[in-house]
Amino acid sequence: METRSLVLPNVKALSAYEAKDVPCRIKLDANESPYDLSPEEIGIVSSALATLAFNRYPDPQARKLRALLARSYKVKRDQILLGNGSDELISMLIACFGGPALYPVPTFSMYGIIAQGGGRKCIEIKLDKDFDLDTDRMLSGLKRAKPKLVFLSRPNNPTGNCFSRERVLKIIEAATGLVVVDEAYQPFIRGRGFLPMLKDYRNMVILRTLSKVGFASLRLGVMIASEEIISEVNKVRLPFNINTLSQEVATQVFSGSKKPFAKSVKLITEERERMFKEMAGIDGVNSFPSEANFILFKLENPTMVYNRLLKKGILVRNLDKVVKGCLRVTVGAPEENSVFIEALRMVVK
Ligand code: PMP
Repeated sequence: METRSLVLPNVKALSAYEAKDVPCRIKLDANESPYDLSPEEIGIVSSALATLAFNRYPDPQARKLRALLARSYKVKRDQILLGNGSDELISMLIACFGGPALYPVPTFSMYGIIAQGGGRKCIEIKLDKDFDLDTDRMLSGLKRAKPKLVFLSRPNNPTGNCFSRERVLKIIEAATGLVVVDEAYQPFIRGRGFLPMLKDYRNMVILRTLSKVGFASLRLGVMIASEEIISEVNKVRLPFNINTLSQEVATQVFSGSKKPFAKSVKLITEERERMFKEMAGIDGVNSFPSEANFILFKLENPTMVYNRLLKKGILVRNLDKVVKGCLRVTVGAPEENSVFIEALRMVVK
């Protein structure tokens, strides 16, 4: 029996999210933090881990962790929903509200993959030449398609910039559905995010994640919205989606008065500025300013440069098919970045 013929047409048309395991010496492709914090730095009490009941299901509501996060984000506990990564939260939003889903492109590919996989219509609106929102096109898209969900990654992956605040607000005000401001890279931005404005906009949903600040392995995404939205989305959440170990470690991360990742976030943003300056000095490389933990850059032969960097053991992301002529490099530790910059200089020459 040809089982492929049983697959739904919308799923058959998809390409799976690419997360290849390419062997390398310096891994700068997945926007992870280069810093693996030690249990002491996180403040993990190993005796607390010893008391966990591995034979029991996790707390289905993750009450302790949600209470801590609520305190940290200055919202109520019932305004928080947790996901197995923010990917899962995007999936829950689609399951709860459906489509059409509207988003600017290029952006994070999972909005389209999840919406299409759920059989929902996707409306893609090109960003303007500065990678900011094209307000006219976005507004006419809203009017025409009345999307149930608009996804805005701010800072935007893979371009690295923050869409202008005024343009985002225009979209939120004009939308008849929900506007999801995905702040996965918020810790690295210069200004403030949209969280403080949550109380003013009932149709706004904020997404955060621990993945970019040193805890990608925990798979923990955070949705913050009105209690009404959270209680509806909670209906499509699978009961035990956050495992006991992730709940416990994240609880320890957020229990102290200081966030253990603050120092590494500072180092990464400083390194981003150094890399940007150094890359600007390489002929034939055009880097785009970034407020995230990665830099998008354009050059003549992206695939050749990608392959040559990989030959030297350095893995970046080849985005030529998504943003013509571009590669994306994640900000690593200082020595890794220096090796990358030297290698790029040599390869481009
Ligand atoms: N949103 C954006 C904009 C991202 O770039 C990513 C990670 N690539 C995610 C969400 C997903 O993050 P998580 O690891 O929390 O699923």
